[in-house]
Amino acid sequence: MTDLTRLTLTEARDGLKAKRFSATELTQAHIAAVEKGRALNAYVLETPEHALKQAAASDENLAKGEARPLEGLPLGIKDLFATEGVRTTACSKILGNFVPPYESTVSSQLWRDGAVMLGKLNNDEFAMGSSNETSAFGSVVNPWRRKGSNVGAGQGGAVEGNHLVPGGSSGGSAAAVAADLCLAATATDTGGSIRQPAAFTGTVGIKPTYGRCSRWGIVAFASSLDQAGPIGKTVRDCAAMLRSMAGHDPKDTTSVDAPVPDYEYAVGRSVKGRRIGIPREYRLEGLNPEIDALWQKGIDWLKAAGAEIVEISLPHTKYALPAYYIVAPAEASSNLARYDGVRYGLREQGRDIVEMYEKTRAAGFGPEVKRRIMIGTYVLSAGYYDAYYLRAQKVRTLIKRDFETVYADGIDAVLTPATPSAAFGIGEKGSADPVEMYLNDIFTVTVNMAGLPGIAVPAGVDGQGLPLGLQLIGRPFDEETLFSLGEVIEQAAGRFPVAERWWG
Ligand code: GLN
Repeated sequence: MTDLTRLTLTEARDGLKAKRFSATELTQAHIAAVEKGRALNAYVLETPEHALKQAAASDENLAKGEARPLEGLPLGIKDLFATEGVRTTACSKILGNFVPPYESTVSSQLWRDGAVMLGKLNNDEFAMGSSNETSAFGSVVNPWRRKGSNVGAGQGGAVEGNHLVPGGSSGGSAAAVAADLCLAATATDTGGSIRQPAAFTGTVGIKPTYGRCSRWGIVAFASSLDQAGPIGKTVRDCAAMLRSMAGHDPKDTTSVDAPVPDYEYAVGRSVKGRRIGIPREYRLEGLNPEIDALWQKGIDWLKAAGAEIVEISLPHTKYALPAYYIVAPAEASSNLARYDGVRYGLREQGRDIVEMYEKTRAAGFGPEVKRRIMIGTYVLSAGYYDAYYLRAQKVRTLIKRDFETVYADGIDAVLTPATPSAAFGIGEKGSADPVEMYLNDIFTVTVNMAGLPGIAVPAGVDGQGLPLGLQLIGRPFDEETLFSLGEVIEQAAGRFPVAERWWG
């Protein structure tokens, strides 16, 4: 039989329905791939028995001809999603061996629709990071290597030498999808954590409109910015995943009560006459010429498909990153107050309760998380609230207004690069200056600040042979247009599978 892990999610779905293979066979192939791929450190917990049980149930449904939308399809789940009876840590020591007694709404909808869980995926601690290096479980290795690099190709799949990061915070999700260790994965995006890792690994990732997916049961980072979304091998796969993940949930008051369209209909739909904005403020001085050239290619592809290209201005873009790094830490400092050694996971002993709190939090949080808590507490403190937090919120409104203005002028979507560079080396960025790492989010954070949907689609490779992505930003709740436009890019650029499975 051909290697079932090479299939896309929707190909596997169709293969199951046509009875070319069973859900159990499909799941077994993925379990074997996950084992072989351990050197990549994409999974922090494997749940093969759980997966096989779900697959057996799917086979029964398939035999009866009662296939649910994701029947029998093996997925990976970012460790930020609470999974009932299955350890959930947000890749932080402070959650220890926390086993939630409940399931996140988004993941419960995937199981409702028949999907199979292979395990929990690595991420930056509490989703704070752009490289997956802040995880308590260690870095994830990008399955992509620079042209000519043979690092880690040794016997037994041992990872050695200087590898690349997969991006973050959803680094495990992106690496697992790129390496065929699952058909698709859940991810979350607060400032770019779906789109940037997708761009670094040649995969597709969509951050839906704020409110499209329920945040209930997802470990909170910055509640007004966090959104769940899928990372998949193709635009169509992401459309199929989002259909199941999205929807109103009374348990999340910010989730929106609007019907969920069948997004797959939008894949392949004509984009003739669609007006695409090219924001001049994204043409950063010193922008990597390869990224600039790719952006131009994207423009040409969309034009060839009948879209109209319009130069636009989003004048407050330059304030988005500094404002994000006030708003996000402020909300994080408040959300993370709950990890006090009493309710979850880790507890260090102290002479009294205050010392217990202090010791637990000192031992449980990593350096990046502590930095965010300190910044957040500072900008919310009485003397600085107006100068920082309130001001950042005002800037946020202006950023949102920039988009409202261009959309009111008839723009359907905005095309930009997804990241300012291709994947960089593990240990290469941010150790001396955290801002160097934060700059990775330059093209993605505006989208979260404005609550809009954004998709990253692989569009080419750089001189070192590494994938690069383009981003499309849509109108609120118009993910469909992003799927249509994203597929045009996918058709023109082709897909970007990893050439060689050097890891095992
Ligand atoms: N890199 C950004 C940060 O560290 C975004 C992370 C995310 O989207 N979760 O805040």
